[in-house]
Amino acid sequence: MKIFGIGRNYVEHIKELENETPDEPIVFIKPDTAILKNNAPFYYPEFSQDVHHEVEIVVRIGKEGKKIDEKFAHKYYDQVGLGIDFTARDIQQRNKPKSLPWAIPKGFDGSAPVSELLPVEQFPDMQNINFELQVNGETRQKGNTSLMIFKINFLVAYLSKFFTLKKGDLIYTGTPKGVGPVKIGDRLTASIENQTLLDFEVK
Ligand code: MG
Repeated sequence: MKIFGIGRNYVEHIKELENETPDEPIVFIKPDTAILKNNAPFYYPEFSQDVHHEVEIVVRIGKEGKKIDEKFAHKYYDQVGLGIDFTARDIQQRNKPKSLPWAIPKGFDGSAPVSELLPVEQFPDMQNINFELQVNGETRQKGNTSLMIFKINFLVAYLSKFFTLKKGDLIYTGTPKGVGPVKIGDRLTASIENQTLLDFEVK
C-alpha cells in the first residue's frame, strides 16, 4: 500500500511556516513502515531534535483506479479517519533551501500514526468535517475540511493522474494551523466531530 501526503493544503498553516501557496498540490509519499496503528506509542527518533505533530484527515482508497474524473472521485474512497503526519522539522528545514526531498523528515519509521477508519457514509459532507488535536489535554490544532485549498475529490483525481490508486492506499490530506513540537512523555489525542479516534503516547 501507498501513503500519500499533501503539503500546504490549509492557508493558515502555510502562513505559520511562511511558505508560498502552491498552484498544484504538493505531494509526497511515506513508506508502509511509517504506519503506526492501534494507538501504538510513537518512539521519538534519535536523529531529530524537533519532531512536529501535524493532525490530518486521512482517506482510504476503496477500489483501484487511475485517471479518475473528479466527478467520480467520491466512489474511490470508502473510509475516513485521522492521522498524524509526524515531521522532523529540523531536517525538513535544512533540506528545503537545497530543494532536497522530504523522504527522511516525513517518511521515517513510525511517522504516520493512523486511527481506526470510519465509513464515509458517517459523514454527509466530506468538506465539512471538524477535527482537533490535543496534546496533554490542551488543544493544539483545530481544523475543518472546508478550509482545504485542494478538496478531497480533487486530490483523488489529481493523484490518480500519476499513480494507480489501489485499495488500501491512504491519503493524508494536509494539516491545519497549530503545528508544533512534541516531546517524550506527551500524550496525543485527536478527535473527528468530537469522537476520539487517536490516543497515544510519545516515548
Ligand atoms: Mg502534513
